[in-house]
Amino acid sequence: MFSIMKDAIRETVSNLKQQGTYKEERIIKTPQASLIETDLNGQVLNFCSNNYLGLADNREVIEAAKKAMDEYGFGLSSVRFICGTQTLHKKLEREVSRFLGTEDTILFSSAFDANGGLFEPLLSTEDVIISDTLNHASIIDGIRLCKAGRERYAHSDMEDLERILKNNGNKRYRLIATDGVFSMDGDIADLKNICILAEKYDALVMVDDSHATGYIGASGRGTPEYWGVEGKVDIITTTFGKALGGASGGCVSGRKEIIEILRQKSRPYLFSNTLAPAVAGGVLKAIELTSANQSLTDAPLENARIFKSAVKQAGFKIVEGDTAIVPVMLYDEATAVKMADMLLKEGIYVIGFTYPVVPKGMARIRVQFSAIHRKEDVEKLISAFTRIGKELKVIH
Ligand SMILES: *Cc1c(COP(=O)(O)O)cnc(C)c1O
Repeated sequence: MFSIMKDAIRETVSNLKQQGTYKEERIIKTPQASLIETDLNGQVLNFCSNNYLGLADNREVIEAAKKAMDEYGFGLSSVRFICGTQTLHKKLEREVSRFLGTEDTILFSSAFDANGGLFEPLLSTEDVIISDTLNHASIIDGIRLCKAGRERYAHSDMEDLERILKNNGNKRYRLIATDGVFSMDGDIADLKNICILAEKYDALVMVDDSHATGYIGASGRGTPEYWGVEGKVDIITTTFGKALGGASGGCVSGRKEIIEILRQKSRPYLFSNTLAPAVAGGVLKAIELTSANQSLTDAPLENARIFKSAVKQAGFKIVEGDTAIVPVMLYDEATAVKMADMLLKEGIYVIGFTYPVVPKGMARIRVQFSAIHRKEDVEKLISAFTRIGKELKVIH
């Protein structure tokens, strides 16, 4: 049997390579940081990680993880409800709730699992989930695993959302699901108006704040804080795999009744292993550092602002947004790929995104900023962008 499958897989792979969408892994020999050592390109300045607060190789986070491992061991060999819950896990759930300003929190091995296990226990055939078209794959998969009706509204289009809410007035529950920050455009969901519509049409609101938790909002508590709608968002899902140390793990946080039923019924929680103690300990430290240090949470946005104003002045088009993700638009697919390659040769690691990851003719280079980028790193990035942009005749 396998020989038939083998031929089919080989053909699929060769098609991917032809279309230029085959994914190669770049090997890094150092911890995740601002300056990293790669096997093929030597030392490069890293502007493509989600390490927004630079905590991935932070000494205090590493020490806290080591201490947690010394005190609580390497693993639990269990799911949470059998014998996988330590004081450390309960402490992390309390701290996440305190940080996000929610009633309760349930940990998952990843945000992907959090979204995968969220919808099915809460909603069924008499309900509807209304989802932004650009939502993360894990939200889409979570919705697929649930029996509720599915509707999609055009990206951040409040008129379209309202139309769908109106049409679904007969449903038992309506749930609006959105990313807090969208990773390809670096824009923030219009939570303020989403919450107004939710109130008007009696809907629940769910936000996946994976790209926001830790640095968006006045004190880094995410997009509900940014819009001042804390308490109106019923469900927040987020990851510990980005700003909060970048190791792994995620959670659902929000109304306590919702969290309680997830502990009873959410399948990735019931049937997948508990978060490793070292990860829980490290994340606790990451939250402590984030809570205590306003200049840390401000820094990635400050770096992004410096870059945005410089490249706009140089003549580049960017997608406007108030986040640490800055897409520089090149539109032409080949130019985006070429420019990312040339930047890498100059020791600057950024990613070019082309069709089908983004729509045709909307190719771009996505730049992501971190608190650990120094002013001179950002300057180096700006001058390389400007120089190569001129060479490729993107700017004059
Ligand atoms: C990164 C991301 C995830 C997945 O997070 P993991 O913890 O790595 O599984 C889920 N949702 C969104 C919006 C993300 O950006």
